[in-house]
Amino acid sequence: MPSSSPIPASPLTTPAALPGHPFVAYREAALYVEDVALSDLASTYGTPLFVYSKAAMLHAVAAYQRGFAGRDSQICYGMKANPSLGVLQVFANAGCGFDIVSSGELERVLAVGGDAKKVVFSGVGKTPAEMRHALRAGIGCFNVESEAELDVLSRVASELGVTAPVSIRVNPNVDAKTHPYISTGLTANKFGIAHKDVLRIYQHAASLKSLQVIGIDCHIGSQITDCTPYLDAMDRVLDLVDAVEAAGIALQHIDFGGGLGISYQGDTPPQADDLWQQLLAKIDARGHGRKKIMVEPGRSLVGNAGVCVAEVLYTKPGEEKNFCIIDAAMNDLPRPSLYQAFHAIVPVVTHDRTTVVYDVVGPVCESGDWIGRDRALGVAAGDFVAVLSAGAYCMSMSSNYNTRGRAAEVLIDGSTVHLIRSRETVQDQLRLDRLVPAQVSQGNAMN
Ligand SMILES: *Cc1c(COP(=O)(O)O)cnc(C)c1O
Repeated sequence: MPSSSPIPASPLTTPAALPGHPFVAYREAALYVEDVALSDLASTYGTPLFVYSKAAMLHAVAAYQRGFAGRDSQICYGMKANPSLGVLQVFANAGCGFDIVSSGELERVLAVGGDAKKVVFSGVGKTPAEMRHALRAGIGCFNVESEAELDVLSRVASELGVTAPVSIRVNPNVDAKTHPYISTGLTANKFGIAHKDVLRIYQHAASLKSLQVIGIDCHIGSQITDCTPYLDAMDRVLDLVDAVEAAGIALQHIDFGGGLGISYQGDTPPQADDLWQQLLAKIDARGHGRKKIMVEPGRSLVGNAGVCVAEVLYTKPGEEKNFCIIDAAMNDLPRPSLYQAFHAIVPVVTHDRTTVVYDVVGPVCESGDWIGRDRALGVAAGDFVAVLSAGAYCMSMSSNYNTRGRAAEVLIDGSTVHLIRSRETVQDQLRLDRLVPAQVSQGNAMN
């Protein structure tokens, strides 16, 4: 049953766009996202400020849609990359479903009117309460990660008098050649079910009355910039599909997870449509071309649709290092301190200033609070800079460390600006704290 929805044309990219950022470009000296100058946004909304391009998100989805043209397929946005409601609306309206990893994420999908049937639920630690929530909402599939989880899900579904649709997440044991913290497809990782146990666990699942086995899934890691691990993983998944079906358990779909990388620093990941042309050729050659194909891309749909605008607070020359201190920090942009990740940093308005090599750091009281090392920048206090590739795993991993409020977020659509999240105030942060009652006098504290 090939999908008949028309493939929307990819939005035209901005001429002279920054590498990897199809809708971020300088016009003369000023940096724009779509048709809006970042300096205007910084003045209106303050900094740090996350700015997302709707056209860039649609452009990224369109590559997957082209890849799956004429197929029964479902793109489930891996929403932990960026779960802001305004971002989810863009993907829901583009026909996407969602890959969720918590009950809270399901609430977000429902809050934007997303279709629960297009939701898949991943994660190694689903609680019975989360399972009940998802079963009541009628989600499309539970991506089960252990045998123990199967038993709990079966019990919860039977208590509710419903049948849970399940897929087993298999661990293909391939090296995604990415950072160890974001590699998930090796036997040493906590994710998925080991190759040798897969058939037995499928048979167990098929024997449970309250479960309906519908698919198989895998997700081998994140920021993958090479086709090889994907092609190897697909071979191993297809071996398992054959083995499971030979045992009389029919599978309706293959969910191949997310993980496709983006360009942070001259990386050249495959385009989604090119990658899928190769993967679909493999699927067809092995006789599974009529199965529904599902994917769960996160980073590759939003990462390069976003930038974070920050103000230069101080420049601080030093004997060994010069520091450029900006008002965004590791609580806003945790990837450098967490994975030594690289984000390009560029001026929001190019000035004729002396270029100095800086370590770009935030105000947080940690030496690990750096955003970029050894960056040549011509900036002075009061200037704005843009931290690029900030659409994925930045705001979603942000924290209140140092009692810093989370940044505001805006979504750009052509020349229209939508504020999609207000800047968090200190009142927002104090709301859940409770003072210990004042002690009346010493001696009667126990009464
Ligand atoms: C995080 C995650 C994704 C999305 O990964 P990206 O690298 O952002 O594409 C998809 N599926 C699962 C199960 C995940 O944990």
